Amino acid sequence: MEKNSERFFEWYTKEASAQERIFVDSVMSLGNEYFGDMRFEAGSITSDFIACQSSIDGGKTWIADEVSLPDALQYFSYDWFSYRIEKMEAKCAYFDWLKQEIVISPEYANDDATILHELIHLHEFVIHDGPWFFHDALLWCLYRDLRGKVENLDTKIEEHGHILNETELQSQGGTHDILFLLKSFDLDLRKGYPLGTVFGYGRTEYFAD
Ligand SMILES: [Zn+2]
Repeated sequence: MEKNSERFFEWYTKEASAQERIFVDSVMSLGNEYFGDMRFEAGSITSDFIACQSSIDGGKTWIADEVSLPDALQYFSYDWFSYRIEKMEAKCAYFDWLKQEIVISPEYANDDATILHELIHLHEFVIHDGPWFFHDALLWCLYRDLRGKVENLDTKIEEHGHILNETELQSQGGTHDILFLLKSFDLDLRKGYPLGTVFGYGRTEYFAD
């Protein structure tokens, strides 16, 4: 994974259109506000889960230890990525893993739900740059947090995770794993959207039970 900010600043200051600058500003503000858990930031559900303590007096007193994160999480920055607005007929947006780029159609460039959807893809890409247990920690923390908030969560996960459903989604728009589903529920709840809004693919009707 490339962690180079220069390309972004060159583009942002010299080439980006006014609409692209507004779009990128939305990406960064939504990202900073809603994705602390996927960055394992202090105070998030994930950083509490991986917190470590040590004692030098046989357990009488404990102090918090610094947790070493993979570089991609420790130094994460949205300017490692590219952002582009391009008119598309078949889809509203996508995240390109090879180019580390979010591409969005102009009519969706101001749509928070679409931007949040692509930001989940971006952050899953970042998580996958490190050891797999960060993916598992995030999956567990989201599940633990949502199980009291989303009705019939286990059923929703089982239906979504079935191989026939995942395969169909894969052919339509790439991988949307169970972690993706849970993070999209977290965002729906925090934004006050009907369940399934951030996920898309007609899932608001599917999850409305
Ligand atoms: Zn997607």
